[in-house]
Amino acid sequence: MATNRTFTMIKPDATAAGNIGAITKMMEEAGFKIIAMKYTQLTPATAGKFYEVHSERPFYADLCKYMSSGPIVAMILEKENAVADFRTLIGATNPANAAEGTIRKIFATSIEANAVHGSDSDENAAIEGAFFFAKTEEVAA
Ligand code: GDP
Repeated sequence: MATNRTFTMIKPDATAAGNIGAITKMMEEAGFKIIAMKYTQLTPATAGKFYEVHSERPFYADLCKYMSSGPIVAMILEKENAVADFRTLIGATNPANAAEGTIRKIFATSIEANAVHGSDSDENAAIEGAFFFAKTEEVAA
């Protein structure tokens, strides 16, 4: 059965560029309901923990530095088939390969500074949501 929740972050490049409102609007217009939202800044250590799964990849140090370089907006979103539909809405990791009209095509500036995060599985959506929000069941009620 398709999940109804995913987790996203508006990344530092997009918050610095003043695109929080425009990106959030695209999410809402695509049918995603925001059920939790937090504006915060990660420390390098916290970014490292969030992206621990990538710790062996060559870009890990750069990614942690970038993700802690400015504020982010963390959100839990609700929609039927949320994980897959949200990945479609944001587009490919590298904006050069992202489909026209996707969030990354419109707002990302590089493969690293790619405007938004989107969970890649139901399991990771739950883990990542819990990383930022302690009581999502209550928030969503
Ligand atoms: P995603 O699921 O589309 O976000 O992509 P990944 O899980 O593969 O990568 C996580 C994040 O690491 C991406 O969203 C980018 O911000 C960053 N990233 C991915 N690939 C590269 C790369 O080749 N170089 C750099 N510098 N960053 C990357």
